[in-house]
Amino acid sequence: MTTLHARLNDELTRLRSAGLHITPRVLDAPQRARTRVDGVDVVNLASNNYLGFADHPYLKERAEAYLRTWGAGAGAVRTIAGTLKIHEDFEAQLAQFKHTGSALVLQSGFTTNQGVLGSLLQEGDLVISDELNHASIIDGLRLAKATKKIFKHKDMADLRRVLQENPTDGLKLVVTDGVFSMDGDIAPLDQIVAIAREFGAVTYVDDAHGSGVLGAQGRGTVHHFGFEHADDVIQVGTLSKAWGVVGGYAAGDANLRDVLINKARPFLFSTGHPPAVVGALSAALDLVQQDESFMTRLWENTRYFKAELQRLGFDTFGSETPITPVIFGEASAAFEASRRLLQEGVFAVGLGFPTVPRDLARIRNIVTAEHTREDLDHALGAYERVGRALGVVGG
Ligand SMILES: *Cc1c(COP(=O)(O)O)cnc(C)c1O
Repeated sequence: MTTLHARLNDELTRLRSAGLHITPRVLDAPQRARTRVDGVDVVNLASNNYLGFADHPYLKERAEAYLRTWGAGAGAVRTIAGTLKIHEDFEAQLAQFKHTGSALVLQSGFTTNQGVLGSLLQEGDLVISDELNHASIIDGLRLAKATKKIFKHKDMADLRRVLQENPTDGLKLVVTDGVFSMDGDIAPLDQIVAIAREFGAVTYVDDAHGSGVLGAQGRGTVHHFGFEHADDVIQVGTLSKAWGVVGGYAAGDANLRDVLINKARPFLFSTGHPPAVVGALSAALDLVQQDESFMTRLWENTRYFKAELQRLGFDTFGSETPITPVIFGEASAAFEASRRLLQEGVFAVGLGFPTVPRDLARIRNIVTAEHTREDLDHALGAYERVGRALGVVGG
C-alpha cells in the first residue's frame, strides 16, 4: 500500500534529484518594470507584462468601476446564469479588435486550448502540432480523439510530409504558436497557411505571446500576416500576458463561438470571469488603441536591449520579439547567472532541460513598454559583469 506521505516524499525526492524542483520567487510589490523580489529591489525582466498593463491605473480604475456596479463575482457558469451583459460586450469589443466575426472568452489561455481542441476535433480528424508548441496545446490534444502528429519546429518540408502521409476525409488542423515562448521567434504563418490550404487544412494559431505585441495596435500574429479575415484560420490566445489581467479567448466566425459555447467543457462547467476582470480587460483594449506609445516603447526597448546584448557578445538565439533569450549552455550556468543577476538587482529566470534543449539552457528576458532606458542599462551592466565572471562573454 502507498501512503500519501510516501507518495509526496517520493515525488519531491525525484524532482530534487533530477534538478527539476522549483520554488516560486515572491514579489513584495506590484508587477512592474521595477519591483521587489525576495527583499531585493530589481529591474524586472521576468514577466509577460509586455505593455505594462498589469498595474496600470487606467485598467485599475475600470476594474473598480465594474466591481462597484456589477459585483464581485459572476455567480454561475456562463451557460447557466453567469453571463452578464459586460461579458458579451467585451467579447464584441475583442472581436472588433481582432477583426473576426466573433470571439468567446474563457477562464484562461490554458483552458482555452483544452476547450477548443477538445471540442473541435473528432475521431478520423488529423491534427499536426509544431514540436515547440505550448504545454496547454499538448494537454488540449490529449483530450482530442483525432490522429495526432508532430512536425519539426517551423519546418515546412516536414509539415508537408506529415500532411501527405496522413490523408483523411476528416477535419485537418495545423496547430502553431504565433510567437514561441522560449525562443521568441515568429511562426512563418504565410507559409503554414499556404501549405495547410493545399491540403484543405485549417490553421490554428495560439497567439499568447503575439497579441499586444505584433500587428497594428497589437492585433496579433494573424493580423501581422494579414489573415484576420480568413475563414480557415482560428485564433486563440490569452488575456493574461500583454493584456495584463487573466483569461483566454477564441476568435473566429460566429459558428465557432456557438459550437464552443455548447461544447467547450471549461466554458460549460467552470464559472466565468468576475466583473473587475472584465472591466480591466475592456480598458486594456481601449488603451492600446488610444495610445500608440505602448507599442512604440515596447519595440524600441526590444530593439535596444537585443542589440546591446549582442554587442556585448551574448547569443540571443533566434529571437525576433520582446522575448529575448540569452544562451548559457549548461543549465547550471544559466541558474548561476540568474542568481548573480538577482544579487545585482536584475530579475531574470534561468530555464533548463526539459523546458528547453539540454545544451541550450538560457535566461529568458522579456522587455516591456514600461522599462526606461535607465532600467535596461542597469540590466545590461549586470549582464556584462555576470557574463564575464562566468566566462560566457570575453573581456
Ligand atoms: C502562457 C501561454 C498559455 C496560457 O495562458 P494563460 O492565460 O496563462 O493560461 C497558452 N498558450 C501559450 C502559447 C502561452 O504562452
